[in-house]
Amino acid sequence: MALASYFIDTRGKKAENGENKLIFNTPYHQSEKPVREERDAVGHAVRAVYLYTGMAMAAKETDDKSLLEACEKMWDSITSKRMYLTGGIGSSASAGEAFTMDYDLPNDTAYNETCASIGLIFFAEAMLKITNDAKYADIMELALYNNVLAGIQRDGKRFLYTNPLEVDPEYAKKLPELEHVYARRPKWHGCACCPPNAARLIASLNRYAWREEDDVFYSDLFIGGEYKPNEYTMITTETDYPYNGAVKYTVYADKPVTIAVRKPARSRCVTVKVNGKPYVYKLYNGYAVIENLNNKDIVAVDIDITPHRVYSNTRVHANEGKCAFMAGPVVYCFEDCDNGDLNNFWAAQEGEIVSVSVSDNIIGDVNILKIPAYKIEQTGGLYSFETPKKEKAELTAVPYYAWGNREEGKMKVWIAEK
Ligand SMILES: [Zn+2]
Repeated sequence: MALASYFIDTRGKKAENGENKLIFNTPYHQSEKPVREERDAVGHAVRAVYLYTGMAMAAKETDDKSLLEACEKMWDSITSKRMYLTGGIGSSASAGEAFTMDYDLPNDTAYNETCASIGLIFFAEAMLKITNDAKYADIMELALYNNVLAGIQRDGKRFLYTNPLEVDPEYAKKLPELEHVYARRPKWHGCACCPPNAARLIASLNRYAWREEDDVFYSDLFIGGEYKPNEYTMITTETDYPYNGAVKYTVYADKPVTIAVRKPARSRCVTVKVNGKPYVYKLYNGYAVIENLNNKDIVAVDIDITPHRVYSNTRVHANEGKCAFMAGPVVYCFEDCDNGDLNNFWAAQEGEIVSVSVSDNIIGDVNILKIPAYKIEQTGGLYSFETPKKEKAELTAVPYYAWGNREEGKMKVWIAEK
């Protein structure tokens, strides 16, 4: 603990002669300033979130309020100004797999290393353990279902290191600024940090799904399985989430238990029934608290996962005039193989988005979205005085994490909307 505190406290300190103590005292290494004076998440994204995770763990262990405040500042900087819709972080390859500036979130050159989102999950878990605030678990879930899962091909044999939100294979293969972007997942990487990191995370998902704090069992991620916090208690979870909002818990316990089910902030409503009867829950820090549960009680939770359009802050120039689509925690994307040339489509501003369950032998059992759209007629020349002609069409969207598993083609998360 003393060594950990030393590593945290010595960053950014000057020597007595006023010079930097370390040659690595730069924003890129998160050590230009002492960590408590830093205002923004800066530098190499993976190292940043690993440092912030350590800071949060140390803050809990030593009850250091100023260090916790520093963690909260970094969390707000990342999640309110420097994070992609997919929970990806580190917007620039040329700046060194790093954070750049507020709202600088280009879709095609994005770095979004798989490890960086895994690190964000570590940071979220550490903050969750201090604060019990569901907002941290919301981001944990977002990063898991989108940027992290996209790092792995469906058959588990190929991997992505960087996770852009828009890919044009021809450009990715030829333009130097897209050197880090792959249109297909490579089998392996020279710096192979991401594949084993993703494997480790998935093999340890149990510790992110449930937590116990002051005799309350917190359900943070909705994943089927058995949770045995002690020898007298077991809670089973049955669910097809995130493609169905129904989550069923069955309690096996010698004495009454309390469970707290995360109410995702992005979900419009969450209803609870206990043994078939509507239950009015207390809301605590973003959790639906269900008390006094006895042996064999069944808790049926229904989380709204209706698909919806998403818009970004107008300061994100890359997303001007565009929208994206989500259902529950799942971010969707468009691919040429479902739609034809993506350059020729605009999403329609109005109209119902329809979610369809499919069982696909490549991308698996998922919900795809059918979205009202317009097909644009190409004018031929580079520029034209003519307003483009458009006809009604429909776009198909698949979960972002499933992109790049079928025929090679363009992919985009954000699409022009008219
Ligand atoms: Zn990595």
